[in-house]
Amino acid sequence: MPANLTPMLEQYHRIKRDHRDAILMFRMGDFYEMFFEDATKASGILEIALTARGKGTDNEAPMCGVPWHSVDSYIARLIASGQKVAVCDQVEDSRAARGLVRREVVRVVSPGTLTDPSSLDARDNLYIACLFSAGDGVGAAWVDLSTGDFRLSESKGPRAWEQVSQQVATLRPREILQAEDGAAAGRLAPGAAGDAVFNTLETWAFARDAAYRTLSEQMRTASLEGFGCQSMELAVRAGGALLHHLRATQRSSLEHIHRVIPFNTADYMVLDAPTLRTLEVTRTLSGGGRAGSLLSVIDRTVTPMGARRIQSWLVCPLLQVGAIERRLDAVEELASGTRIRDELRSLLKQVRDIERLLGRVTLGSATARDLLSLRESLFPLPAVGRLAGQLSSSLLTGQPGPLASADTSGPPVALDTLEDLHELLGRAIDDDPAATLHEGGMIRPGYNVELDDLRSVSRDGKSYIAAIETRERQRSGIASLKVRYNRVFGYYIEVSRSNLGMVPADYERRQTLVGAERFVTPELKQYEEKVLTAQERIQDLEFTLFTQIRDEVAARAARLRNTADRVADLDALACLAEVAVSRRFIRPAICEESRTSIVAGRHPVVEALGNEERFVPNDLEFGGEREPRILIVTGPNMGGKSTYLRQAALITLLAQMGSFVPAERARIGIVDRIFSRIGSSDNLAGGQSTFMVEMQETANILHNASDRSLILLDEVGRGTSTFDGLSLAWAIVEYLHDTPGLGARVLFATHYHELTELSRTLSGIRNLTVSVKESGQDVIFLRRIVEGAADRSYGIQVARLAGLPKGVIERAREVLANLETNEFGRDGMPKLARHGAAGTGAAPAAQGQIPLFGPPEDPVATEVLSELRQIETDRLTPLEGLQLLDRLRRKLATD
Ligand code: ADP
Ligand code: MG
Repeated sequence: MPANLTPMLEQYHRIKRDHRDAILMFRMGDFYEMFFEDATKASGILEIALTARGKGTDNEAPMCGVPWHSVDSYIARLIASGQKVAVCDQVEDSRAARGLVRREVVRVVSPGTLTDPSSLDARDNLYIACLFSAGDGVGAAWVDLSTGDFRLSESKGPRAWEQVSQQVATLRPREILQAEDGAAAGRLAPGAAGDAVFNTLETWAFARDAAYRTLSEQMRTASLEGFGCQSMELAVRAGGALLHHLRATQRSSLEHIHRVIPFNTADYMVLDAPTLRTLEVTRTLSGGGRAGSLLSVIDRTVTPMGARRIQSWLVCPLLQVGAIERRLDAVEELASGTRIRDELRSLLKQVRDIERLLGRVTLGSATARDLLSLRESLFPLPAVGRLAGQLSSSLLTGQPGPLASADTSGPPVALDTLEDLHELLGRAIDDDPAATLHEGGMIRPGYNVELDDLRSVSRDGKSYIAAIETRERQRSGIASLKVRYNRVFGYYIEVSRSNLGMVPADYERRQTLVGAERFVTPELKQYEEKVLTAQERIQDLEFTLFTQIRDEVAARAARLRNTADRVADLDALACLAEVAVSRRFIRPAICEESRTSIVAGRHPVVEALGNEERFVPNDLEFGGEREPRILIVTGPNMGGKSTYLRQAALITLLAQMGSFVPAERARIGIVDRIFSRIGSSDNLAGGQSTFMVEMQETANILHNASDRSLILLDEVGRGTSTFDGLSLAWAIVEYLHDTPGLGARVLFATHYHELTELSRTLSGIRNLTVSVKESGQDVIFLRRIVEGAADRSYGIQVARLAGLPKGVIERAREVLANLETNEFGRDGMPKLARHGAAGTGAAPAAQGQIPLFGPPEDPVATEVLSELRQIETDRLTPLEGLQLLDRLRRKLATD
């Protein structure tokens, strides 16, 4: 610390010392100031002027500042550019302070702890995660600070990091905390963490006993048994460290975090990062926005809680038939009850974000307007409760069913309509409350006697003062005399210069202006005192009353949370019903067999968003005892292969989340994981996909798929040369077919039509192709998937459709014809012999790439072959046979 500092800068340095990694925003009057390096950095990011304090002195300090009332938007911008911000407030009244006013850091904001409503998307959770690993295990804790959602998970064994990576990909935390060794960042699967920021916590924070204590204190229980987390030591240590960190950085009791949900990968279908990405479940591949994703098509929720619930159901599809059926029952009931559904949804529309309002209450940032929103949100609940009472599915009525624990939201309880709280807020909060907490105007008349008295004193005083004006005009005879108020002088009497002669003797002069003079009287000052003290006391009292009411709300945190949960479920189920009706989805049958049967299935997103072309439905039948379980889909580019693959996965995913599906009939055997990979050249838009990544991802599938998995391989192998790619694709399919325990359902779309040969020898494989009609030189896509194999790629026809110059198309046809009749064979360029494909289904030869399906053709070999073909064996004597053999052998040898 530099010597000879002003006391203020000394205070600054003392506080900054504890927050070296954050930008310190230092409250001074109406501004938050930043100094030194923080100022340089922040002024650049925020594009605000950099000035200096103590210019020209030894203590010159670079400085920049932002006004207090818009600080949240500046914080959000600093966070967005990867900074952490420590907010330092004046923690005593500057009027009461002797000397320097006391200041403290009241919260530290990082990407994972943003709670300001304007920087949150209401439809998304925002998680901060904390990971702790020891031995072969990893514990993870997840908190959405704005809603109080708190989860713990623990994974052990060789696949621990892979499981954690999947959870990270599913919950998409913005910030990941880890121990100081920083091990976690490097062990997560590539791409799993997205653009999350990594930060560290000191090792002691993870100490077992302390973490356990922190957690049980937070949950207000003696043990964690009731939450099912007792034995998850690593998770508890991660959770304790995370809560400790949040308490320290938020300076809040965090009362809204009062329960913990164990989050087990084993309870849900696994969707890893590449699968979520390529299926465009919540974001699109191009651009990464929500519009165009599956979520955007099925999210018809009307509350933020419902929107977040639908998203969490979508990324965590269920695995138990019973739990899925329970959701389907509820969706079916609401889908057939149009009136009740419409009524329910229009009531729910009035409900705001109860979860986040509660979060703001316990974090201490709620205003009277927030409590008004809460009041308005509670208003429709009794009617919602009555409607739910008319329904019979257990998820809707809130009666716990046998499989309640399989749902994310915990056992359903009947809707608590919180009428006591509604009544309190109705009595207490003004209908049009002030936006801030310290200026009064929040509490409704009639709520508090003392407040009403003070208000009438203030009001009477003001009208008494107003009456003084009339009286003094009469007394002095000055018609233009005015009683006015300003902040410096308080109330005063203003008389224009021309009338000064008529001023009564008891007026005391206070100020002389150009055209007028200002006076006060003892009477005026006496009433002013009354009015002003009353006003000040009103403001203080209103603030006190407000915090009491806020505490009353916080004391109902658990009940509010349960109600928010019920609202989320009702909204999400009504949304699925609405989608089912408006998009003509049907209820799928769910079974345990590893078999899928879909009649007239559609791609929910292409159907909803593709405008010009009517969507052509297609059937799908694979897996189980009798049907092949590996389908190889060939056909022209743009024919509809990828769409067909993805629609299979999306229908499965929808079914297991408890939604109806776009088909005429569907029977879905439970899938434990969906793997979806797109060959790299199909994914160049993504920018980062290379052949290496493609192969890593494929390796991951081959190691992790099970008998119950669903695998989509779309043009895998395309990212390398034709022969490499084809060989790999070939070997991958064989592996999937032959490996015991890997009886997954597989859809493989490929432009290597050679792969269709595999079905001749491997019984578990069937070929499908997208049908096209050729008319003249054109190709017409029929979009129908039929049994069979494509024998070529129609690349040239597609290129023609795409508008390539005529000359290029014609020349390409010539080249193709030459290639097909093998005229290019001379330069050593091998031809893929369609006819000669190995009838044995044996793997391609191990060394070299050439002898894949037959010998490379040279003229001599061709001659020998044709001679062989012409032999009529039954007319040869044994001797002639031997002579022929010898001749042919020699022919080949001389070459
Ligand atoms: P491929 O993978 O064979 O190159 P895609 O699956 O990408 O082809 O399909 C190309 C386009 O065709 C899609 O963008 C979609 O608009 C349209 N399409 C695909 N399948 C259908 C279908 N069944 N009905 C209508 N249009 C379809
Ligand atoms: Mg494709």
